[in-house]
Amino acid sequence: MIATWGRGASGAKSLTLNSHIDVVSWEEGADAWSVHPLAGEVRDDRIIGRGAVDAKGQIVAACMALLGLRDVGLEPEGTVMLMSVVDEEPGGNGTLAACLEGLSADAAIVLEPTGNHVAYGHRGIVDLRVTVQSAAGHGAVAGAAPGGAVVRAADIIPALSSVLHGWHAPQDAVYGPPSLNIGRIEGGEDIFSVPRRCTLDAGLRYAPGTGEAVLAAARDGLARAGVGWDEDSAPEVARVVSHYDAAETPPAHRLIQGLLGAAQRFAPGATLTTFPGGCDARHLVNRGGIPTAIFGAGELSSAHRADEAVPIAELVTTAQTLAWFIMEWAGCHRNGSPAA
Ligand SMILES: [Zn+2]
Repeated sequence: MIATWGRGASGAKSLTLNSHIDVVSWEEGADAWSVHPLAGEVRDDRIIGRGAVDAKGQIVAACMALLGLRDVGLEPEGTVMLMSVVDEEPGGNGTLAACLEGLSADAAIVLEPTGNHVAYGHRGIVDLRVTVQSAAGHGAVAGAAPGGAVVRAADIIPALSSVLHGWHAPQDAVYGPPSLNIGRIEGGEDIFSVPRRCTLDAGLRYAPGTGEAVLAAARDGLARAGVGWDEDSAPEVARVVSHYDAAETPPAHRLIQGLLGAAQRFAPGATLTTFPGGCDARHLVNRGGIPTAIFGAGELSSAHRADEAVPIAELVTTAQTLAWFIMEWAGCHRNGSPAA
């Protein structure tokens, strides 16, 4: 859903505020929560609930900013859009659809938890799947040293992680070095048989501009371990299953610097940063060609876990920062007497 507000005056700049209303699942692991995941309970000045910080709370902050401006009788000269999108968590089809339908704006802010620091980019993720196949056999004749596809797959993990040791690139200082997560390993048939097949799913995260190099390093490391690359005939093969690209807007861009100035007005410690997770900024930047910042209340470390929470004071700071930035970016016209 996209709500639009402002006069759309020629020469005035437009702005899109974007965040998502879909959330990760809460049913599984609900017993680890201290409240019902959908209760939205307030405790210690924090709102607790699935989506509190990622990212329904952020949508509320954006609404507070817009309603606050309206309530003091201000209206943007340019156009301000509020995009409430779905399907961000699995890959961003909501924002992607808007970009494909011709969404255009002079700038965008994707509202995600950054502790009210201003992020100008985020890392990309390559999902690799390594498939290992080996000869099956009776478990009774396997001997003392186990073999088969499961053991072989486990041996491949250090080969994969070693290629990232000592990695160095200029972006490391802000984005951190590439990281590897072995997300899933699945194989074997039963305890009576030497496993015939095993798959290993690994997520490789990389800084903008380093995707090709990181992937090449992974490919080389796997080749040294005897794993083929994208060859249907190889018994041990790795391939890219999916790819969520990285995105960046130059930190010197007036969007980034303007938002940083607004953020520091309400939180003097606000700094420039980068976002460690992926988000819909990639579609706005790479598909929509829209300069994009990532900004919002709370900590990413609180998301996707039990007792997800957002501090109310941080939501207020987010709303104040957005309102101030909208006034500066889109211009604001006093609209007669304040609204009731
Ligand atoms: Zn999110």
